[in-house]
Amino acid sequence: KRVKVFKKKKVVVIDPGHGGEDPGAVGPKKTLEKDVVLKIARELRDKLRKTGYDAFLTREGDYYVSFKRRMAVAREYGADLFLSIHTDSYKSRLARGSSVYTLSLKGASSEAARLLAESENLSDIIGGTANGQNNSESAPITLNMLQTETINQSKALGAATLKHLKSVIRPRISTVQEAHFMILKLPDIASILVEVAYISNPKEEGLLRRTDYQRKIAAAIASAIGDFLPAPRPVVAVGQENVPSPLTVSTPPPLVLKDPIVKSDTKTVKTVKSAHQKAVEPEKKKTDAARAAATSPKKTAPVKAQAKKSDSTKSITLYRVKRGDYLESIAKKNHTTVRSIMRLNKLKSKNMIRVGQKLKVYSPQLIHIVKRGDNLEMIARRYKTSVTALMKINKIRSRNRIYINQKLKLPQSR
Ligand SMILES: [Zn+2]
Repeated sequence: KRVKVFKKKKVVVIDPGHGGEDPGAVGPKKTLEKDVVLKIARELRDKLRKTGYDAFLTREGDYYVSFKRRMAVAREYGADLFLSIHTDSYKSRLARGSSVYTLSLKGASSEAARLLAESENLSDIIGGTANGQNNSESAPITLNMLQTETINQSKALGAATLKHLKSVIRPRISTVQEAHFMILKLPDIASILVEVAYISNPKEEGLLRRTDYQRKIAAAIASAIGDFLPAPRPVVAVGQENVPSPLTVSTPPPLVLKDPIVKSDTKTVKTVKSAHQKAVEPEKKKTDAARAAATSPKKTAPVKAQAKKSDSTKSITLYRVKRGDYLESIAKKNHTTVRSIMRLNKLKSKNMIRVGQKLKVYSPQLIHIVKRGDNLEMIARRYKTSVTALMKINKIRSRNRIYINQKLKLPQSR
């Protein structure tokens, strides 16, 4: 008898560049970068969802979203990877091919890379959200080990992307380039910027307009993601001895299910989207004076439906922050997500935790599937708990009343 148990899905956030009043680059046939990249991003999202990932877009339609907001979206979804999709452009129509970029903490890897980053960074100025100081090349970046590690991962993801894109389009440069892209500044999420092709090249513009080609590009990027961060395979628990550790149940606990950001069905995505639009729309209408006045960040995250207290109190435990902890490590230890911890504790930033702080943690239920020959004493011993605790949490009246394939909840160990 086999039972499939699915692990938590990896989260990929795809960022279609530009949008709204910022069209991005424009092709000779007036094809707009913002439209093409949105189509590719949608294809990529759908492809990833079909292959076992959770994938989300930073914008779902033709409206402008600030860099800050795009990165906040990545955080809210608890992204493991962040990909910004663009098309390149050059005054010479002969320029062609794809290129992939990561954030540079020092200088750009070439003058062309520097110029490209500069032009992509203009987006916030066109969209009217730049605050004048973060968009300069000389803006200080906090260099820490986490960020260095993230950039190394980003480079690996970039290399995989170039490798797979090669079968669809000739690369302009076959190595991952570096430059100071505003959008790639998430310090702890592997992020790349993909310039799919030159929209200024008539032939590539023609290709970019084709749905089958958009799909091919998306498939190539999806394969790269598959190489870099394979979707977790279902764990097959054989109904025999030696299930080494408790299994994580596929079904998220009730609180998470009611959470509009965590849930990934269409209805939820719409909720999130409209909230994003609300956050974005007023910005467009602002006058310059209002814009200048509104320098302090005030946008709040999308409104969330609160789970009933009776539900949420049940499986929330407190975790005491230790030296050297950061949200990712805490999430991993507790079989939960950064996103869930941030929301549960109303954290506005990942850096808002300090040693000794007690964080509410919502851990998924761990289970043991009862096998032939199991008894409660054995199970309790294996998971370092007590028979009484097992009976209580599973509402078992008599210790002999367990049956094969029964899914026993395990008390949260801490
Ligand atoms: Zn662009």
